[in-house]
Amino acid sequence: MDAVQDTDIDLRVLILAPTAKDAQITASILRESGVPCHVCKHISEISAEIGKGAGAAIITEEYLLSDRSNALGNILAQQPAWSDFPFLLLTPAREPSEAARRRMDLLQHMTLIRRPVQVIELLSAIRAALRDRTRQYQVRDHLAERDRQAEELVRERDRAEEANKAKSDFLANMSHEIRTPMNAIYGLSQILGASKPLTAKQEQYINTLQTSANSLLALINDLLDISKIEASSVELERIPFNLAQLVNDVTSIISVQAKLKQLRVVIEGNLDYSSVYVGDPTRLRQVLTNLCSNAVKFTEKGGITITVNEGNADRRGMRRVTLAVRDTGIGVTKEQVDTIFHKFVQADNSITRKYGGSGLGLAISKRLIEIMGGTIAVDSVPGEGSTFTVTLPLQPGTEEDGRHAPLALTSRKNAAPAQGRILLVEDNFPNVLVAGTFLEQFGYSFDVASNGHHALEQLQNQYYDAVLMDVQMPRMNGWDTTRAIRAEEQEKNRHRMPVIGMTAHALSGDRERCLEAGMDDYICKPFDAQELRAKLKLLIPDKTGLDSLN
Ligand code: ADP
Repeated sequence: MDAVQDTDIDLRVLILAPTAKDAQITASILRESGVPCHVCKHISEISAEIGKGAGAAIITEEYLLSDRSNALGNILAQQPAWSDFPFLLLTPAREPSEAARRRMDLLQHMTLIRRPVQVIELLSAIRAALRDRTRQYQVRDHLAERDRQAEELVRERDRAEEANKAKSDFLANMSHEIRTPMNAIYGLSQILGASKPLTAKQEQYINTLQTSANSLLALINDLLDISKIEASSVELERIPFNLAQLVNDVTSIISVQAKLKQLRVVIEGNLDYSSVYVGDPTRLRQVLTNLCSNAVKFTEKGGITITVNEGNADRRGMRRVTLAVRDTGIGVTKEQVDTIFHKFVQADNSITRKYGGSGLGLAISKRLIEIMGGTIAVDSVPGEGSTFTVTLPLQPGTEEDGRHAPLALTSRKNAAPAQGRILLVEDNFPNVLVAGTFLEQFGYSFDVASNGHHALEQLQNQYYDAVLMDVQMPRMNGWDTTRAIRAEEQEKNRHRMPVIGMTAHALSGDRERCLEAGMDDYICKPFDAQELRAKLKLLIPDKTGLDSLN
């Protein structure tokens, strides 16, 4: 009876017999053996006693048969899930009748004791039933404890969420409040900077004022972002954008810093120059800018390579785009890799002193990319460099979207002296950057057309001195485009436009194929800058007169 004594519940045995005498005899046997019991006068008492913690019940078969209103059945049906109240049924020695069998089924957890009752057998069955009931109460207590803990956890989660929301709201409000006067400081310092004359000292003060205002503004923007992300109130835009344009914008921004540190910035990959996607370009630009400016910040020599790859469309029509930013900088250790994406975490304490920053950029980038359905990962070797890779499913835009996300990539307006204007027909974004950079260096201005159709349209609207034509392009290739240009010239009696083909093949027969399509010359990729310059010079008359001076 150890288990029974362990429990704080009064595990009494209920006795329900047709006659008071029978009940008393059974009760005295139990009491003599130290088993607490209670004689019930009526079935309704059973229900109340079970509620108070009774351990088992002894009833006689006669009683079971006399329970016509099925009161016992109703009591048992109301048991909670953990409860299976044990019964000991005293039956006559003969086989039970059919009616008795059906009533027995009702009791579910039942031990049959045949009369005349053997006291040892009865006591052993009672003890087994009480042990079983004890275990049921233990299960009940476990379940109650588990429910209590689950409720406590929910309460704690709610409290934490509330606190977090209050903190995020506070951050958002404060950031807004600080931004307003900061805008005034920033704007006025710009106005002040533009007002002349300024002494060298004044200019230096204003520059410092602007740099400080800028970094404060950047920090506030980051705080605002992280609080929005934590309050789950980031709403992503869904607008068409040109990915090459976005990469180019970011590259232009970081190139200034990179140049100051004499770092190379290279773009690689298979990005189609005319690829239009529908998504949130502002957020994606923010992430890429963060990765690129970190790359510049943490690199002292070498350079930064941005690799953009467009995967094939999946079943839903989404393309998996990978943007990798590789640098040759200080790198991070394996242990730091696990933490640098947490907010306010920098690889080590010396970072703030040496490089500044808040440790928020990567946390924001990670959350933004995850909200967009992508991932961000880092691969790094300390002292050699890091590669941060963003993988993102992006929905390709339609032709109509393409018209809403036009390309604005041309040579910089102030870099267009009178050497001439070139139409660069090229669909591959890295190649555009390479050829475009060369053209600018030679002093040509240029526009870009991403395919043959686009080139023909541009030629109608704008004067060019020559066309630099990639031969392999989607929709309309370079050879067909050149044929179309020549046909148009003939039809409209126009002067002949110099066309230089760009091929990646370098095979014999390439030259013939280009010339046969109507091109004036061709150049193999990767091309040598001086070779390109020489070919252009041959075809475009010098307008500056500088040649004769060189
Ligand atoms: P911040 O640059 O403002 O410190 P980030 O969240 O952008 O914050 O970066 C967190 C930390 O990760 C940086 O402080 C730095 O220690 C590490 N880190 C990020 N990018 C690079 C990188 N390209 N090379 C080396 N360490 C990096």
